Amino acid sequence: MKIYNCDAFEKIYDFQKSKLKVDHIITDPPYNISQENNFSSMSNANRHGVDFGEWDKKFDLYSWINIYCQILKPGGSFIIFTSYRNLSYVIDMIEEDKKMVVKDILKWIKLNPMPRNINRRYVQDTEFAIWAVKKGAKWIFNKPRNISYLRAEFHTPVVSGRERTLHPTQKSLKLMKDIIEIHTKKNQLILDPFMGSGTTGVAALELDRDFIGVELEKEYFKIAKERLNNIPEKLDL
Ligand code: SAM
Repeated sequence: MKIYNCDAFEKIYDFQKSKLKVDHIITDPPYNISQENNFSSMSNANRHGVDFGEWDKKFDLYSWINIYCQILKPGGSFIIFTSYRNLSYVIDMIEEDKKMVVKDILKWIKLNPMPRNINRRYVQDTEFAIWAVKKGAKWIFNKPRNISYLRAEFHTPVVSGRERTLHPTQKSLKLMKDIIEIHTKKNQLILDPFMGSGTTGVAALELDRDFIGVELEKEYFKIAKERLNNIPEKLDL
């Protein structure tokens, strides 16, 4: 496991210099959905959206994609979470240089979504991830034997209790483990260039995969480091 507290847009040049190749890239970059909150009066408070921080406001959603694809091995999966508003743009970018092909859209269906503005809107209970693979290569798809056809749906609660860290958009560990089990094999190397609190890494290591993670913000990097260092070593008996 290797993790870096730096900018993923710069770190890619080191990865390229060292000729790093990864088996899979599974990542949850900023969605750019944050809005400034201005709770000046109670009457308009619930009209305002969420504000996760500056990192979620002017993120460059597209330019990292093709350059990171270059360090993905043939047969590798590229799984990117993004907001429903950005889905088609991110898909176009993944397929732009004709080396990758989008296979499916994965849906994370939250079992306990946050109820907001419930008398005026549907509850926001779903997030999406784009699954793409390298063209011309055989990808991994570990379909469970007891399921005749697998829907691209992952049903888990949002994080709470002991699992919860201070990261405002932390993904559920079960969600990441379910995805990793279907799309990767044991001992393969998974890269998350925007790892936040390190959930992809925790899921990867707990499932006997290797992990490389990058996170820009010191505070989140510290959380990820602590979580990853606290995974008990497994003994090969
Ligand atoms: N899946 C993560 C988890 O479970 O904690 C949350 C990831 S969060 C949506 C995206 C992360 O990308 C944020 O923690 C943010 O600080 C980080 N980030 C934003 N720009 C970055 C950059 N240029 N390089 C590396 N990390 C960056």
